Order: sequence, then C-alpha cells, then structure tokens
Amino acid sequence: MFSTDRYRNYPQFGEEHDQLRKLVRDWCRKDLHPNAHAWEAERLFPREVFRQAAQRNLLGIRMPESLGGLGLDWWYTVCYAEEMVNCGLAGLTMALLVQSDMATPVIHEIGDSWHHDTYLKPAIAGQAIAALGITEPDAGSDVAAIKTTARRQGDDYVVNGAKTFITNGTRADFITLAVRTGGAGHEGVSLLMFPTDAKGFRVTRKLEKMGNHCSDTAEIAFEDCRVPVRNLLGNEGEGFYYIMANFGGERLVGALTAIAGAQRILDVTTEWCKTRMAFGKNLMGFQTVRHQLVQLETEIEAGRQLCYRTVDLVVRGDAAWREIAMCKLYCGEVGNKVADRCVQLHGGMGYMDECEVSRVFRDMRLITIGGGTSEIMREILTKVCL
Ligand SMILES: Cc1cc2nc3c(=O)[nH]c(=O)nc-3n(C[C@H](O)[C@H](O)[C@H](O)COP(=O)(O)OP(=O)(O)OC[C@H]3O[C@@H](n4cnc5c(N)ncnc54)[C@H](O)[C@@H]3O)c2cc1C
Repeated sequence: MFSTDRYRNYPQFGEEHDQLRKLVRDWCRKDLHPNAHAWEAERLFPREVFRQAAQRNLLGIRMPESLGGLGLDWWYTVCYAEEMVNCGLAGLTMALLVQSDMATPVIHEIGDSWHHDTYLKPAIAGQAIAALGITEPDAGSDVAAIKTTARRQGDDYVVNGAKTFITNGTRADFITLAVRTGGAGHEGVSLLMFPTDAKGFRVTRKLEKMGNHCSDTAEIAFEDCRVPVRNLLGNEGEGFYYIMANFGGERLVGALTAIAGAQRILDVTTEWCKTRMAFGKNLMGFQTVRHQLVQLETEIEAGRQLCYRTVDLVVRGDAAWREIAMCKLYCGEVGNKVADRCVQLHGGMGYMDECEVSRVFRDMRLITIGGGTSEIMREILTKVCL
C-alpha cells in the first residue's frame, strides 16, 4: 500500500532525498493514514497535524533557516508532495500544501522582516494556520475581476467584501488576501496580510464538498475590517502579478500530488487485480486488464517526467510558465483518468465508501478545477505557445 523504492532510480534524488521521503512516509503510515476514515467522517483533521508537520520541518522546506525553514530546493518539495499521498487524505495534503506552498511563499518573496516575523515564521513553526484568499462568489478564473475592497483611511486599510472556496478558511489565523485598492482591472489589485482576529471578519459558512472531506473550505466575509497599512505585501497595484507568480508553485505541487496520487491508487489497483477472481482466474489473467494497467502506468510516467523537467527549470531559475501550465493540465487530466479506471477495475467495490479508490475518485476531481482550471491552463498555453 505504501510506495517504497519507486523513486530510487531517478537521478535527481540521492540519500538525503530518501531520508526526507522516509520521514514523510513513516509519519503518514503511523499517524495519519490510520485516522483517514475518522477524519473524513468528522469533516476535519485535527489542528495538531500542522504542528506535527512543523516538527518534521515540512512547512518551510525551501524557506531560509533564519526563518525556521530548511533552506533546501524544489527537489525536496517534490519528495514531500509525492510522499504525502501515502496519508490517503488528499484534503489533508491540500491543507498542508496551502500552508507551505500556496499562501506563504509570496510572503517570503516580497514581504519585509515584519511580515516574516509576524506571519511567515509562525506558519513555518505550525503555530499559525495560513489561507490564501483570492476566489470570490463572482470572480474565480477571472482574478482581475475581484471586488473585495481595501480602502485607505489614515494608517489603515478598511476591507469590505467576501471570498469563497477558501481552504483552511474556518480556522486560519491569517489570510494572504487579494484585495482591490485601486480601480477596475488587474492594475487595481493588491495583496494584504489579513489577521482573522480583525473586527468585522466572519466565517459565513463551512462548505460541504464532493471530496477532500477532511479539509475545511469556507465562505468568509469582511465588514469594515481595519488592517494597518504595513500589512500591505509588496507594492500597491501589483498584486495581480504577485498572484500569477505565486500560482506557479501552487500549480506545480498540485500536478505532483495528482501524479503521485494516481500512482498510489494504480499500485493499489494492481494488487487488487492480482487477487480478485472472475471466470476462474484473477483479473490479471485478462489481457485487456493488463493492457489498461500498463497504459495508465505509461501516462503517469509521462506526467511525472513533465513535472521533473519543470522542476529542473525552476531550480535552474529558468522561465517555466509553459511547462507549469502543461503540468497542471496534463497531470490533472491523467489523475482523473487513472482514478476513473481504478474505480472501474474494482467493480462494485470501487463504488463503496469503504474502498479507498472511491475516495480518490472524488478527491481527484478537484485537480482540474482548483488553482486554475484545465480550460485556463489551455488559455495560458494558447498565449505562450501559439
Ligand atoms: C475544494 C476547493 C478548494 C479551493 N481552495 C481555494 C483557496 O484556498 N483559495 C482560493 O482563492 N480559491 C480556492 N478555490 C477556488 C478555485 O481556485 C476556483 O474554483 C477555480 O479557480 C475556478 O474558479 P471558479 O470556481 O469561479 O470557476 P469559473 O471561473 O466560474 O469557471 C467556470 C467554468 O468556466 C470555465 N471558464 C472560465 N473562464 C474561461 C475561459 N476564458 N475560457 C474557457 N473556459 C472558461 C472554467 O474553466 C470552468 O470550467 C478552491 C476551490 C475548490 C473547489
């Protein structure tokens, strides 16, 4: 059930990567996976998990040691993201990746030492939960259409508006928040560090989802919330560009978890096919089944290689817009295809809640939507490639 030596033959990884993989895998196996059913049923995993992740130095892998991070490169993030799928809880993995790779890298990149001390260090230490607040009821793919305003009044911004589909939203201590400080369009967008204890902030409701049940997803509202001007991240009016740059990392870890999750469920399904009997032989005895399994294995490997090529570009500091959009598009679609075929190969059992592939099927559906849909990836590729 738990992947072991799969990554040994890739030249990118050495002994230190193996150590990180083992650390994450052991944590998943001992502390997380045994609770999978319970936390899904409870619709929330314990807050303590963030602290456990921090104790293992997983929330700041690429952050400098001076901020409590490990100061390592993207290849270690690859190990973390790939091995987290062994917890069998895509919702938990997503929540941790929001903390470590979606809501906080931008604070490191454009924040000042006060932002680092107040928000980034506590997030890396697992003491504060982070959320990323971009999507609104009337603006998702079209980020430049957000309506939540932050109007300057003296030394404060006054924030009004609403966000939706916010991961970690019911219990976040702060939100890296997209706001409108200027006029219409992308030039009017800024990023603000928003503390959720600000007066006028409320969680409107916790949303029920198709999958990723153990993570919380919230609709939130801001009514005349006052936030000091120093909470502005970077320059006023440049938020749209920061968000787009930040999306790069978010999409890459999303693609990596899609492929790793697909591999894991394919491994589970391959084992199932060796034991499930039909017409006097196991499913592996049918050529059509064997061909399906190797076809899916091939597509997963292609997705993985695309991700690794992209990580290589990122590590070398080269532009990777094209490759990141391809990763998100291709790996998301492959992940969904694999999940669908694995349900089918499990027959009726694949439709049962007690069977993990049914959960993966539901959870995987998010990958082609969250963090930029497949259609938006094709839009980006149209601009970059044609
Ligand atoms: C479980 C979950 C967790 C999430 N977590 C967060 C979070 O933490 N923070 C956050 O800010 N957001 C979060 N999101 C929001 C997510 O990023 C958005 O749902 C996503 O970007 C799509 O936006 P939308 O839902 O408004 O869809 P829409 O933009 O309304 O799109 C609807 C459909 O129209 C298509 N479409 C839109 N524009 C075009 C176009 N130009 N050409 C062709 N087709 C187009 C889309 O591809 C899609 O199929 C989360 C979403 C989910 C479901």
